[in-house]
Amino acid sequence: MALFSSLPRIAILGAGIIGLTAAYELAVRRGVRVTIYDVRPPGRGASWAAAGMLAPAFEAADAPGVHPRLFELCLASGALWPGFAQELAARAGRPVGFDRTPSLAAALDEDELGRLSRIAATLRRAGLAHTELSAAQLRRREPALNADVLGGLELETDVRVHNRETVSALLAVLGAHPKVRFVDGPAPLKSAGGRVRLEGHDAILAAAGWETAIIKVEEDGQRFSLVNWDTALDDIDCHGGQMLAVRADEGAPERVVRSGRVYLVPRSEQVVIGATVEPDRVIDAPEADVIEALRLEGVRLCPGLAAASVVESWAGVRPGTPDHAPFLGETITPGLFVAAGHYRNGILLAPVTAKMLADEMLGEAPDGLAAAFSTRRAFAATP
Ligand SMILES: Cc1cc2nc3c(=O)[nH]c(=O)nc-3n(C[C@H](O)[C@H](O)[C@H](O)COP(=O)(O)OP(=O)(O)OC[C@H]3O[C@@H](n4cnc5c(N)ncnc54)[C@H](O)[C@@H]3O)c2cc1C
Repeated sequence: MALFSSLPRIAILGAGIIGLTAAYELAVRRGVRVTIYDVRPPGRGASWAAAGMLAPAFEAADAPGVHPRLFELCLASGALWPGFAQELAARAGRPVGFDRTPSLAAALDEDELGRLSRIAATLRRAGLAHTELSAAQLRRREPALNADVLGGLELETDVRVHNRETVSALLAVLGAHPKVRFVDGPAPLKSAGGRVRLEGHDAILAAAGWETAIIKVEEDGQRFSLVNWDTALDDIDCHGGQMLAVRADEGAPERVVRSGRVYLVPRSEQVVIGATVEPDRVIDAPEADVIEALRLEGVRLCPGLAAASVVESWAGVRPGTPDHAPFLGETITPGLFVAAGHYRNGILLAPVTAKMLADEMLGEAPDGLAAAFSTRRAFAATP
């Protein structure tokens, strides 16, 4: 990345949590002029659909086939969250729902118990706080849990935020910031000299979630996909997810609880029950039979939810990659950067993504961790 003699002008393509947090880091914290483009209403993609769990341990401490440094990246971002949440809430003058209460992981069968003990072993090796719990201890912490639980973990690393409140706070702060401009519609990208250009800007950050590779660039009157400027982007895939929320009446859990099959997240007088993972599916609307199956899984974990009325159901699309970790940093085309493919951890990974991208876009060489998530990386064979 060339060093700029003055601060560069940066275009961000995509106003999900990744693009918005990058804009926050660049404009609010570092004084860079930023234009944010989105082809739909900002903040209503996967970042709106998410449950808001910030869960390095459950998502990445024992996840075969994932990028070998994903757990480290998740922990690094988890460490940034408290400061980011506090600062954002203060600037926005509204809460973002950051809650440090440790999540509970519960096993309902021997396979799940085995997985939790592998997560515990990883946390022990890393010296990270957690508590192994018998069934009775687990139910004392969360009485709403099924009496058949076999045991579980209390995970100090795994906390939560209200992702919709966070997105709304980001939009409020950025919308009022003098260095930030929102544009409704696609950026008129043009190719010249093998590079992707956008008039009035020095660098481009592609952060359009699962649609990042198909962003269009005009060349000689024709429109090509961004993937032509870095073929690795072709590896960004999509994983549909469906979810519902029920009313939090008596018998509802008060803590985030999760098993291998379902998770329950208390949020604003409701309990979110999630989520399906449906590879290669772009789902526009929730499907009644899928939502009902998910609700029943939630009831299995916390039987007191059986009579809770469904308040909302929805669907979203996670951006994935073959190793379930994002692409971060400058692509093989100079001046074109990417932050996409965060899969199940985009809310968690937003602060570290924003920091790494801002550092690199402002001329710092990526550190070892950032470089490990470049589009140049090779994917390990999936077991
Ligand atoms: C059901 C579900 C539950 C989840 N739960 C969690 C969770 O608990 N914790 C967690 O950390 N993560 C969770 N995730 C994952 C997380 O939501 C995503 O990883 C994250 O939101 C991705 O953010 P993003 O900004 O890349 O994408 P998005 O939020 O999808 O934003 C991308 C934006 O780009 C825009 N765009 C598309 N094309 C263009 C274009 N050509 N030009 C400009 N803009 C464009 C879109 O309109 C959209 O606004 C969940 C996801 C789902 C679906």
